[in-house]
Amino acid sequence: MVPSREGPRPCVDDSSQGALDHSVCPGVGIDYPRLYEVHYGRHPDNWLTGIVQKVRTGHAADPTIRLAGASGGVLTRVLQYLLETGRIDGAVVAKQGIPSPMEASAVIATTPQEVLDCAGSVYIQVPMIPALARFEPGKRYAFVGTPEQTAVLRELQRRGDARARQVAFVLGPYTGTALSPRALEYYLRSNKVAKEDPVTSVQWRAGKWPGYLEIQTKSGVILRSPKVYYNFLIPFFVTDTSLLSRDFCNEFADLAVGDAWSPKFENAGEGGVSVVVTRTPEMETVIAEMCNKGLLALEEADPAKAGDMHGHMLDFKKRGGYLRGRMRRFFGRPAPDYGYRPARIAFPRRAVELIISSVFFLCRSAPARWIVCRIPERILGPFFNWMRLRWKALSRPTKRKGLAQYDVIITSR
Ligand SMILES: Cc1cc2nc3c(=O)[nH]c(=O)nc-3n(C[C@H](O)[C@H](O)[C@H](O)COP(=O)(O)OP(=O)(O)OC[C@H]3O[C@@H](n4cnc5c(N)ncnc54)[C@H](O)[C@@H]3O)c2cc1C
Repeated sequence: MVPSREGPRPCVDDSSQGALDHSVCPGVGIDYPRLYEVHYGRHPDNWLTGIVQKVRTGHAADPTIRLAGASGGVLTRVLQYLLETGRIDGAVVAKQGIPSPMEASAVIATTPQEVLDCAGSVYIQVPMIPALARFEPGKRYAFVGTPEQTAVLRELQRRGDARARQVAFVLGPYTGTALSPRALEYYLRSNKVAKEDPVTSVQWRAGKWPGYLEIQTKSGVILRSPKVYYNFLIPFFVTDTSLLSRDFCNEFADLAVGDAWSPKFENAGEGGVSVVVTRTPEMETVIAEMCNKGLLALEEADPAKAGDMHGHMLDFKKRGGYLRGRMRRFFGRPAPDYGYRPARIAFPRRAVELIISSVFFLCRSAPARWIVCRIPERILGPFFNWMRLRWKALSRPTKRKGLAQYDVIITSR
């Protein structure tokens, strides 16, 4: 994918990818069933969560790393450990603020401190694959990417790309929705920040979990918005990739990590807690080793219960993503082909998708964006949060129904 003002676009004609094979692109589609066969040697038993060695919940033992992380700082601590134990020479990570405070880029961290400096989530999508072009021959790397990026990386490895094969460990966040870079511009306008007052820093998950968006400007303006409030940006600025992807749990990452959204952890008020999924024996060894050394405070969890924390987003991707792709094709627009489709989707779920897609269609239009940046966030944030919770409660029975029996039909051959 390549960046654009509206977020990542399919990388057709993309010279920024150097010699990388730009026919491998999530905008076009990745054959998930075939990739599963090649990479894991089999299809997953559960197509919602992918192949799983173990599921755990917890956080980095070091409180500084836990606080710096988006949820429990687990991705950061594992990357540091891979460097400390000489398993890798560098890690491809994302950093907000490069090349300018409003932008984010991939960087290659080679020390634990550099990894820590890149902790936290960046909610605009960052092109990570081009960083492979900066690999030094003979060195081994870890790669952090969103689900579509890790799938592209695995596809490049499958095709024998020499640089992709230098990646020894793939790590990634669960990824629900990423925003168009324009979201920040609109957010500033809605908070009446003058165009002449440049932004000096952006943090997406500042402070204590679940954190807040914090933006500072040269004149000293500091904007702070709790995560649940700035979620109002999602319907207006969500990327096409987020709407069409079918992978929430980062199915091709050796280690996939998400927020542990459950009242048990959210109400404890102790700090960030992550859901941590190992998918390969090699990564399971690393995590077990780190737990034994007291570097990670993790507890094994029942995969079904852990999956329940993210039922809404799993449905959004696995059934919603498929239906939205079909709708796009119906209107003559391209949509990615992932080589499989849900075996059954009941009529009520299809009807709910019509509502969801209409909302996205309307909200992402220019007039809706114009209006939204004129409503103060102190009104829109709480209102959107209230609407979101109401909608979640209302659509929950339909969105959850049949999800536990989610089955697929392979369409790629
Ligand atoms: C766009 C996006 C959407 C997400 N949506 C959800 C969701 O709906 N539900 C959920 O449970 N979790 C979601 N997450 C995951 C969550 O925000 C945390 O990233 C995850 O829990 C890992 O936390 P951590 O503390 O272990 O990570 P940290 O220790 O903070 O490490 C995060 C690592 O990921 C890298 N990184 C950050 N942003 C990006 C990016 N955009 N692209 C590539 N690498 C990146 C950082 O450089 C860092 O190395 C999302 C993450 C992103 C980036």
